Amino acid sequence: MTHPVPQSATGDATLAARSQRAVWHPCTRLRPDASANEPPLAIASGDGPWLVDTDGRRYFDAISSWWVNLFGHANPAINAALTRQLQTLEHVMLAGCTHAPAVELAERLSALTGGALGHAFYASDGASAVEIALKMSFHYWRNTGLSAKREFVCLRHGYHGETVGALAVTDVEIFRDAYDPLTRRAHVVMSPDARQAVGAETPADVAARALAALEALLRERAGQIAALIVEPLVQGAAGMAMYDPSYLDGARALCDRYRVHLIADEIAVGCGRTGTFFAWEQARGGDPVPAHGWPDFLCLSKGITGGYLPLSLVLSRPEVQRAFVADDIARSFLHSHSYTGNPLACRAALATLDLFAQDDVLARNRERAQWLAAAMAGIAADPRVTNVRQRGLIWAADIDPAAAGPDFAARFHLAARAHGVLVRPIGHTLYVMPPYVFDAALAAWLGDQLRATLHAVIGAAQEVRHAA
Ligand SMILES: *Cc1c(COP(=O)(O)O)cnc(C)c1O
Repeated sequence: MTHPVPQSATGDATLAARSQRAVWHPCTRLRPDASANEPPLAIASGDGPWLVDTDGRRYFDAISSWWVNLFGHANPAINAALTRQLQTLEHVMLAGCTHAPAVELAERLSALTGGALGHAFYASDGASAVEIALKMSFHYWRNTGLSAKREFVCLRHGYHGETVGALAVTDVEIFRDAYDPLTRRAHVVMSPDARQAVGAETPADVAARALAALEALLRERAGQIAALIVEPLVQGAAGMAMYDPSYLDGARALCDRYRVHLIADEIAVGCGRTGTFFAWEQARGGDPVPAHGWPDFLCLSKGITGGYLPLSLVLSRPEVQRAFVADDIARSFLHSHSYTGNPLACRAALATLDLFAQDDVLARNRERAQWLAAAMAGIAADPRVTNVRQRGLIWAADIDPAAAGPDFAARFHLAARAHGVLVRPIGHTLYVMPPYVFDAALAAWLGDQLRATLHAVIGAAQEVRHAA
């Protein structure tokens, strides 16, 4: 029954070629001319912020392996915690059973919201957490006698995952358009993306405009609307669109006034990425958020396990669960996934939270954010680079489309690999989102490599000025 595995001197090419035959890679175009398909980078091991390919070449993981890795690959503390958990309990169902890692993780995450949110509902992927929040919101209103509230609102260019329900609240054409006939499209309202500023408008002015647009919709349709879903502070898949925190508090107030739930999708921005553990903590410009100022639902995934294992969860306000307390089973939230609350995944998450506590990560990340800004200053100064922006450990800038040329993202990705960096620009947006394990020297090295890559891809700045 076993097929001989083709062997060759270049294990790299072999593994990549076998992968192209055996694995359907995500988010990847399959061209009819197979030679036009770039073989995947075959990774043999990981070591801190580095990935090592099957030929021993090292790449700095500048996008944290799709935004999931926080404390480096093969982190000794997380490895040790997982090894201990493996020897104790690998998995048990969470309906009718429970286990210490699921309980402890739920308790600790609730404590991080000051008790404002709790009752962690576990799933495995970000998209399933979004589905859960949408279903819970709708079901809450039904249980409270408001079953007409069954529509959702999302932001322009918002991204919340790619299952059919999550796509309905996703406004990224490339992911959504093919499946439009399958979805119940949400209302799409203006994003507070600060790049839309006109004239002397500040980011806060843009946020105020976006809030006015939201209010116009809610005034008209709140009776049919269950929830608004937002990515707090940074719309990741839109190309790291960043906005003023005042939008969050304003949206919270509008949702209260019009009796609409607010779902904070912190799948990408949670776990310290934007400078606070939850991005939502910045909703009041740094002042502590009172219990009533938190969202009704908060989704986490990606970084919560340090990038080790698929885990997602939804935290909610206490009154949400109260609406599901009933003898009638139709009022219960009968949603489950086989691996809900997997003990290994929860253990990795607990080890991740331990690292935050032990190493004062949020304080040290403020310093790292400065190193990152300094390292990227050279690129920021390039005349073809605009909208330079940063929130915590997310740095992004847009490359002038005329200078970037066609297929900029793919060309930049490949050229950066030759410089020992793994990055994947989104359209014309170059961004980095590194794991929280670099020092000033490594940041400077990254900046140098990316600058050299940019020059390799679009030429040195001066040449363009001469040509213009
Ligand atoms: C990645 C992401 C998701 C989807 O998570 P998956 O684990 O990929 O399903 C949802 N929302 C946001 C904001 C994300 O960045």
